[in-house]
Amino acid sequence: MARKRRIGIMGGTFDPIHYGHLVTAERARGDYELDQVLFLPSGTPPHKPLDQVTDVKHRYMMTVLATLTNPYFEVSRVDIDREGKSYTIDTLRILKSIYPESELFFITGADAILEIMSWKNPERLLELSEFIAATRPGFCLENSSQQVVEWFKRNNKRLHLLQVPAMAISSTDIRSRVAQGQSIRYLVPEVVEHYIKKNRLYHSQHPDREGCDE
Ligand code: ATP
Ligand code: MG
Repeated sequence: MARKRRIGIMGGTFDPIHYGHLVTAERARGDYELDQVLFLPSGTPPHKPLDQVTDVKHRYMMTVLATLTNPYFEVSRVDIDREGKSYTIDTLRILKSIYPESELFFITGADAILEIMSWKNPERLLELSEFIAATRPGFCLENSSQQVVEWFKRNNKRLHLLQVPAMAISSTDIRSRVAQGQSIRYLVPEVVEHYIKKNRLYHSQHPDREGCDE
């Protein structure tokens, strides 16, 4: 039987896309022999107030520009063109209907994946897709709660950990650096840096918006 096509899915706000996202996607592609990685900028992010997210036309453009030179990377509008909020379960169902013969690999930060524990039906998610959770180097699952450790072990065929050195980069920090006039060189692709400058994105950030990633 022919090998099934393996598609990585990297969902995000991408406000802006940065090297953490790109390195993770490329590493996942290599380690899990993915044929393609789809970047899915979110339309209306479920967890972020509307007035705090940059217009999707800019986030989409930066994602296209950042992924342009990698032949395995593509940008999908699935989450943008959809009405309402983008929940992972809906995204996976839609992708499964578009690519019924493919195996899906949802790539996400490990902290985000731990939220799966609170989702209604994690088993259903794991049926639709395998999950690759990016962690900081040295991350030790054993330090998580007993419940989380057991959940990972129970699902270890569909749920994978991937250590990524660039994990410390965040869009929050990049927005804050731009607002303070600091350099973001080597945190985002040069073309994204130019795009941010040209469109004066993140310059007028209110100090309240700075701070930790949620
Ligand atoms: P923000 O600081 O605004 O939350 P972010 O840097 O976390 O932005 P998102 O667009 O929210 O970026 O993240 C998209 C996906 O990429 C999520 O699954 C998130 O866990 C993951 N991610 C975020 N930063 C990194 C990174 N440095 N390395 C690998 N994955 C990351
Ligand atoms: Mg985030």
